[in-house]
Amino acid sequence: MTARGDSASQTGAVVTRFAPSPTGLLHAGHAVAAIESHDRARRVGGRFLLRIEDIDGARSRAEHVAGILADLQWLGLAWDGEVVFQSARMPIYAAALDRLRARGLVYPCFCTRAEIAREVAASASAPHGVDGVVYPGTCRHIAPDIAAARLGEPHAWRIDMARAVALAGPLAWHDEIAGRVVADPLAQGDVVLARKDAGTSYHLAVTLDDAAQGVSHVVRGVDLFAATHVHRLLQALLDLPVPVWRHHPLLLGPDGQRLAKRNGSPTLAGLRAAGVDGRAFADYLRDGTLPIGFARANA
Ligand code: GLU
Repeated sequence: MTARGDSASQTGAVVTRFAPSPTGLLHAGHAVAAIESHDRARRVGGRFLLRIEDIDGARSRAEHVAGILADLQWLGLAWDGEVVFQSARMPIYAAALDRLRARGLVYPCFCTRAEIAREVAASASAPHGVDGVVYPGTCRHIAPDIAAARLGEPHAWRIDMARAVALAGPLAWHDEIAGRVVADPLAQGDVVLARKDAGTSYHLAVTLDDAAQGVSHVVRGVDLFAATHVHRLLQALLDLPVPVWRHHPLLLGPDGQRLAKRNGSPTLAGLRAAGVDGRAFADYLRDGTLPIGFARANA
């Protein structure tokens, strides 16, 4: 059987984006994502966009937004057009959630993290997906009238994945590095589409925004590969255009661990403050020949 997405033909200009969350300082791994995305567009005269993923009001900081802009300028990566802020687009995410709710494809989830952890610990298997441990489906079994009566309690909205997959039918997508990929969103379980604290989730916001901004090539780290199974499904459910993906290898530290602030990778702000030449640093990253003891490797 053929799956929708097999013939995703890309005509017209290439549009890519860098979409950081302003919840901390950027490090060399972020620089790779920005460079990959920027260069993919610029190589063919395309557009490179910047989107600030600040749906997490509690953790997003204006000073981190300013830091991101300064880091990109330091790396010599100019973006096109206005910077888009997800925090300004909440009504759009809410409207999409409404559409899915009207079709019975999402349900409210009242579980706390601790309750989910307890339930998972008590079950024989604990499969993992893009958002960590796969949700065991507890609240999917609450009768609709009971759930409706509880909507005054804190709740997230989760996709009823089995139902959504059955409705959408087989799907596939194209990755410039991995090739044709058959979408398997079911393995990700009932992921959250609207967080308790945010009114949307990464999956819903990113999918809607990439479509709204006309992103033709979603360039991001291979650590987000599994998320694409979910995003491809959301595109089908919400009648959105299907881009091409390019999940690039991650930059790993000398210990083989993914670079992150918590394992001491230098921040771009730190390198900047130390007088490192940002454009030269970006060229090192492009070559995969990193200056100081980093190694590039496939994740
Ligand atoms: N905001 C996400 C992050 O900072 C990236 C989103 C994406 O590229 O799809 O990890």
